[in-house]
Amino acid sequence: MKVASFTIDHDRLERGIFVSRRDSVGNEVVTTFDIRIKKPNTEPCMDTAAIHTLEHLMAVYLRGNDRWADRTIYVGPMGCRTGMYVIFKGDLNSEDIVDVMKDTFKYIMDFEGEIPATTSKECGNYLDHNLEYAKWECAKFYNEILMDIKKENLNYPD
Ligand SMILES: [Zn+2]
Repeated sequence: MKVASFTIDHDRLERGIFVSRRDSVGNEVVTTFDIRIKKPNTEPCMDTAAIHTLEHLMAVYLRGNDRWADRTIYVGPMGCRTGMYVIFKGDLNSEDIVDVMKDTFKYIMDFEGEIPATTSKECGNYLDHNLEYAKWECAKFYNEILMDIKKENLNYPD
């Protein structure tokens, strides 16, 4: 079995926003994005509680966004904890979602108050959250990558 995301050279992969795959579903196309927050195998991955909180806040932001709510199919963490997968409806490029990702990460880094959906009824591991750490990771990615995003942060290495 060939899985496209396993064929990327993770040793050369930078942080950024990448198109992982595009799939046809009926007459529609959906685009899966690799939101790579940590440089693979180079720096420590995200803390489990931090990426869990990031997942909650990212989902809440996108599903409440006027322009993107209807196009947001899925938001979830990568098992390696170096990034997130986001699936949007539409045949999209990395450039198309830079602005909404900036807004998303800004929302999280400035977030105050109670993390959404963190009761035992709503979440499968509701005690495993860390808002401050999630905010710290988001601020780092926002300031170091999203603020001045370059070609190598938008396209997988050849
Ligand atoms: Zn949860």
